[in-house]
Amino acid sequence: NTPLHELDPDVAAAVDAELHRQQSTLEMIASENFAPVAVMEAQGSVLTNKYAEGYPGRRYYGGCEHVDVVEQIAIDRIKALFGAEHANVQPHSGAQANAAAMFALLKPGDTIMGLNLAHGGHLTHGMKINFSGKLYNVVPYHVDDATGQVDMAEVERLAKESKPKLIVAGWSAYPRQLDFAAFRRIADEVGAYLMVDMAHFAGLVAAGLHPNPVPHAHVVTTTTHKTLGGPRGGVILSTAELAKKINSAVFPGQQGGPLEHVIAAKAVSFKIAASEDFKERQQRTLDGARILAERLVQADVTEHGVSVLSGGTDVHLVLVDLRNSELDGQQAEDRLHEVGITVNRNAIPNDPRPPMVTSGLRIGTPALATRGFQDDDFREVADIIAEALKPSYDVTALRTRVTALAAKHPLYPGL
Ligand code: PLP
Repeated sequence: NTPLHELDPDVAAAVDAELHRQQSTLEMIASENFAPVAVMEAQGSVLTNKYAEGYPGRRYYGGCEHVDVVEQIAIDRIKALFGAEHANVQPHSGAQANAAAMFALLKPGDTIMGLNLAHGGHLTHGMKINFSGKLYNVVPYHVDDATGQVDMAEVERLAKESKPKLIVAGWSAYPRQLDFAAFRRIADEVGAYLMVDMAHFAGLVAAGLHPNPVPHAHVVTTTTHKTLGGPRGGVILSTAELAKKINSAVFPGQQGGPLEHVIAAKAVSFKIAASEDFKERQQRTLDGARILAERLVQADVTEHGVSVLSGGTDVHLVLVDLRNSELDGQQAEDRLHEVGITVNRNAIPNDPRPPMVTSGLRIGTPALATRGFQDDDFREVADIIAEALKPSYDVTALRTRVTALAAKHPLYPGL
C-alpha cells in the first residue's frame, strides 16, 4: 500500500502539475467541470476491483451484493432527476452511450439524421469516420446561416425525403435550445425514433433551467461530466418499452464489466444535482454565459471583426465568430491560453478556415460557476477575453487579472 508519490513519482508529479494548472488558470472549455471531492472519493474507491457483468440482481459474478446497491441507487436517482421510465448507468462514456442506443434501435445501413459536425453536432451523430458515419447512412441537417439556429424546415424536408429510422437532436457546440416537441412531431410523421443527446445541457435540465427532452424522446443519452458535474461517463434514459433493448445493447452488446466505482461516483453526483445549491450554480452558469455574450457584442469588440454566433446564448456556452477577424481560432485559443484562460477553438458553420485552424472559439461557464464565480467575476472574465481578442493587448496585465480571479475563488483547497 505504498502511496502514489513514493511508488511512482513520475505520474504523481504530472498529477500534481495538473492540479496546479486547474487551480491557477480559468477553465472555460464548455464540456469541462470540476468534480466534487466526494465524487472523486467514490471513483477512487475499492469498487474499481469488482467485476459485475449484468445488472443489479442479475449478475454473472458472485459477490455483487454491494455494487448492486450502488448501481440501483444511481438508477433510481437519475430516473427521478429527469422523470425517466428507465435508466442504464453503465456506459463508460457519452460516445459509448450513443453507440449502444443506436445499436439497440438500428441495423447497419439504416438511415439516421443528426446535426452536421461543423454546425455543432457531435462525432457520434454521423461524422464520416466515426462508427456512426461508417455503420449508418447519414443525412445531416444544419443551422440556418441568417439566424445561427437549427433550420427546422430543413429537418422536416430531409426527414420526409430520406425517411430516417432515427433522428438525433443534440449538440456539442450550439448556443440555443432545441425544439424537442417539433423534432418529435417530425419523427412521428416519418416513423423515426427520436434520440436526444443532452450531454452538454443535462445539468441545466436537472436544475429546471432548460426544457426537459425526456417527455418527448424515445431515448435520451448524456454524459455525466459536463454541466452535470459528475465523473466522466455516460447514461442512457428511455421509455419502459425500450428498456430491454437498451440494456442488452449496453451489455452484452457493447461492453463487458461495468465500472462500478464510476457508477458510485455518478450516484453521488446525481444526489448533488437534485440539490438547491446545484440549481443556484446552474443559474450562475447561465448568467455567466449571457454576460460573456453581452460583453463580446459591444462596439469596441465588434469593430475588430469579433462577434457571437446567433447573437447571444440561452445555455452555458458562447460561440465566438472570428470569420471577419484577422485572428483565427487557433491564434485566439493561443492568446487566451497565454493569459491563463483555457478554451477550445471550434469550427463554425460555413467556416472558411481549415478544421485544424477554424474561425471560432467555444467558451463555456460551467467550471467557473462550480468555482463560485458570481456576475461581477464573469464581467471581469468577459472583459479580459475581450481585451485579449483585440489587435494589441497586454499579456502581463491580463495574466495578473486572471491570477487575481483564480485566487478569489480557490479550487480544491487542501488537496
Ligand atoms: N455527445 C455530445 C453531445 C458530446 O458533446 C460529447 C462529448 O463531447 C459526447 C457525446 C461524447 O462524450 P465522451 O467524450 O464521454 O465520449
